[in-house]
Amino acid sequence: MSLTALDAPAGARITVDLRAVADNTRTLVARARGEVMAVVKADGFGHGAVGVARAALGAGATWLGVTGLGEALALRASGLEGPMLSWLNPPGADFAAAVGQRVDLAVPSLAHLAAMPPGARIHLHLDTGMARDGAAEDEWLALCRAAREAELRGRVAVIGVMSHLAGPDTPAAVRRFREGVAIAYGMGLRPRVRHLAATAATLTEPDTHFDLVRTGAGLVGIDPSGTTVLRGAMTLTAPVVEVRRVVAGTPVGYDHTWRAPRDTTLALLPVGYADGLPRSAGPRGEVLLGGRRCRIAGRISMDQIVVDTGPGEGVRVGDVAVVFGPGLGGEPTVADWATWAGTLPHEIVTGLGSRPHRHVVGGN
Ligand SMILES: *Cc1c(COP(=O)(O)O)cnc(C)c1O
Repeated sequence: MSLTALDAPAGARITVDLRAVADNTRTLVARARGEVMAVVKADGFGHGAVGVARAALGAGATWLGVTGLGEALALRASGLEGPMLSWLNPPGADFAAAVGQRVDLAVPSLAHLAAMPPGARIHLHLDTGMARDGAAEDEWLALCRAAREAELRGRVAVIGVMSHLAGPDTPAAVRRFREGVAIAYGMGLRPRVRHLAATAATLTEPDTHFDLVRTGAGLVGIDPSGTTVLRGAMTLTAPVVEVRRVVAGTPVGYDHTWRAPRDTTLALLPVGYADGLPRSAGPRGEVLLGGRRCRIAGRISMDQIVVDTGPGEGVRVGDVAVVFGPGLGGEPTVADWATWAGTLPHEIVTGLGSRPHRHVVGGN
């Protein structure tokens, strides 16, 4: 991608490269022992759910997964077919719509099971040590028994058993998961898809793979395990809207938290915390501008940042700064921004505002 003044957009711009999503999907498919679900919740981790879903399905993923039913119905409305699971809904959600659109539903409790309409395809959801979503172990037997009764009455079909890993002590979680599956079998259930692993365990713990892995972060180039080279799929750029020469000691921005250490040139970029740049990254943040890393000078404002481009001349109004990207051209990455802000890359990419112009490349 060329980032010359000629293709400078009017403001901040997000470019999503679906070829990176396809490459990352192939990496995950190659590692997985079973099938791969493309998790495209939170608008495909901020990359656009439909585009990411299409790219992933085109590269070997066979399932789609989202948290809320609304996300699932939106995917169906955009024409996406194939197995799809929604796993986080209140018992009062419109489950009849899910059945009508062939969306599988996670069932974490007896209340959810009671709310399933006839024809529901369900995945019993067990908590294996996170105390977040999923049935507690002491409720699991009753849930399996009730699900089997509902299945025998022809109300539901138990397609899967699922759980989610907290991170620490995966062997204990795998043991609890196996026990949970055994209890389901003991009740007469025959779940065809057992699924536990997300991206990190897909890349590092084959024992967790079972029949299906659910990968989200990895699709867009985030590797929480730190073991595998994946391709960042998103680039955020902003054009220089003003250039200013200042003398040593000039205070910059709100609260004067930064002063020019020498005579220098400042460039103003129209991107700020309303666009998703964490304000906490200000003291350490950098962008790539004119082929060099430039520090953010002063506070990140709601709509803008000032960067210190150094004493040399050269940066011009209309030049394009790369705020983050895959990192191949020397630009910061999403992971760099996460480090500067003391957070996860996930939070950076899902926290982007609606203002930057969005541009998708590499789709079919
Ligand atoms: C978000 C989520 C995933 C995907 O996790 P990644 O680490 O992004 O791959 C899988 N399963 C559940 C239940 C999730 O909430």
